[in-house]
Amino acid sequence: MSEYDYIVIGSGIAGLYTALLASEQGSVIIITKGSIDDCNTKHAQGGIAAPIGENDTPELHFNDTLKAGDGLCDPESVRILASEAPDRISDLVRLGVPFDTVNGAITLTLEAAHSVPRILHAGGDATGAHIEATLSTRVRDYKIKVLEYCLVTDIVVENGVTKGVTALDLRTGSVLDFECKNLVLATGGAGNLFRLTTNPDVATGDGVALAFKAGAELTDMEFYQFHPTGLRLPGVPPFLISEAVRGEGGILRNVEGNPFMIDYAPEAELAPRGVVARSILFEMRKTGSDRVFLDVTHLPVSKVLTRFPNIYKFCFDHGLDITKGLIPVAPAAHYMMGGVKTNSWGETNIKGLFAAGEVACTGTHGANRLASNSMLEVLVFSKRIVEKTGKKIIISSPRQVSEIKCHLSPIKTNKSINPVNLRVLQELMWNKVGIIREKSGLVQAVETLAAWQNCLPEPSDRHTYELNNLVLTGRLVSEAALIREESRGAHFRSDFPQHSLKWEKHITFTNC
Ligand SMILES: Cc1cc2nc3c(=O)[nH]c(=O)nc-3n(C[C@H](O)[C@H](O)[C@H](O)COP(=O)(O)OP(=O)(O)OC[C@H]3O[C@@H](n4cnc5c(N)ncnc54)[C@H](O)[C@@H]3O)c2cc1C
Repeated sequence: MSEYDYIVIGSGIAGLYTALLASEQGSVIIITKGSIDDCNTKHAQGGIAAPIGENDTPELHFNDTLKAGDGLCDPESVRILASEAPDRISDLVRLGVPFDTVNGAITLTLEAAHSVPRILHAGGDATGAHIEATLSTRVRDYKIKVLEYCLVTDIVVENGVTKGVTALDLRTGSVLDFECKNLVLATGGAGNLFRLTTNPDVATGDGVALAFKAGAELTDMEFYQFHPTGLRLPGVPPFLISEAVRGEGGILRNVEGNPFMIDYAPEAELAPRGVVARSILFEMRKTGSDRVFLDVTHLPVSKVLTRFPNIYKFCFDHGLDITKGLIPVAPAAHYMMGGVKTNSWGETNIKGLFAAGEVACTGTHGANRLASNSMLEVLVFSKRIVEKTGKKIIISSPRQVSEIKCHLSPIKTNKSINPVNLRVLQELMWNKVGIIREKSGLVQAVETLAAWQNCLPEPSDRHTYELNNLVLTGRLVSEAALIREESRGAHFRSDFPQHSLKWEKHITFTNC
């Protein structure tokens, strides 16, 4: 059996960046279930937030992040995020990420709920693609071992210490075992829980399920961010129309052509994501439509073409010239705020198990992520994982939060239940655990998911492993959403539409 100092699961920004840093400390292998660039990261458009502008400070970034997080951010994590951001951006520049510049200075744009322009971008709206390409080139330069098309199916823990992983080689069907000193989960999110998502097929909650089964704590699972503007063209798979389009002056109009955001929020198009997504949903219901429109026809054509070349090209290739016509959009599942609970060094409650990126819950996003803070969080906390493991600092204490600890209890139901497949799971989650939730729908979702868990066959291939992982992740999201009897951040309960002081705490699940 092969043994490594570091096993990194996943090859998005979290996996690649962690592996690059870890390779200076010892032997590293990246295990990833698709090709190296099959991940959410490649699709990120808007950019990375960092307080590097003339009128910006880490304090301002800290305040904006806290405000978006709606009372549930961990202030220490957010302070680390904002203060270490400039150095991590310098790292990316050194690694060769070609951020857009004007006269040699990095260009910064504004996005919703940021008080000043602070979003760095590359190739206009191709930031994630440039980051993924640059980091994977460096991984090759550094000769880091990458095992593609290999699905991790289990984390091996003995006496409370992480020992390694079991994986399925998807090309040969053979089962492989690997040992390690440090295991970094960098498996991304779970957008495929929902019928409409901006995420590619690869985002199936594997890391959440692997960690939960291994005994790790999962927290904030009820907070799933729905992006307000997924493209809604007939027959075209969901595609993100970046936040930055509204940041640059795009206007949301209902099917009758009228702007409506100002009726819902004083910040109008630049209100936080959850507010915009819900406003769109209300407006769609009011007008009996399954979409609204984003209008950029008033912006200079040159600006649209230089800032949003990919969005322009994608729409143009599907028959829509966005400089002349309105863009049909609707909300879609986008980002998992919750995940594997870590402290500010990326450590979980299991010795030797770390989590980085979208699968981790470091406490920086709270109940709602501030736009473009996700890739920044990856850089800041991945670096801290390697700092910690490299210096062999003794295990530090868990992140201290006010929380209630929960378990998934067996649920008995006499209901006859249709067998689960990806489509019915996504419909259930979209309809009952989506943007607007209420008790009876959530109870129905929890019971159905529990019944599916009981009758799912043993997984044997990629599809069945992913379906198992999605059902477990969906159950954690639904149970948490049912427990939280209030509305906060991305979690909206029509039966409890207000904040409740009682709920200024986290919901944490354990399997032990
Ligand atoms: C369309 C879109 C636009 C976005 N725009 C922005 C933006 O502008 N700014 C921003 O900050 N964020 C943005 N985000 C969010 C951001 O891109 C992601 O949160 C971030 O890229 C996640 O990186 P990651 O490395 O954690 O996960 P990913 O990039 O998703 O990588 C996960 C990796 O884990 C692998 N994996 C998963 N399960 C297994 C398994 N069982 N075995 C082996 N490998 C496994 C996958 O194959 C993949 O390689 C956007 C997301 C999307 C979808």
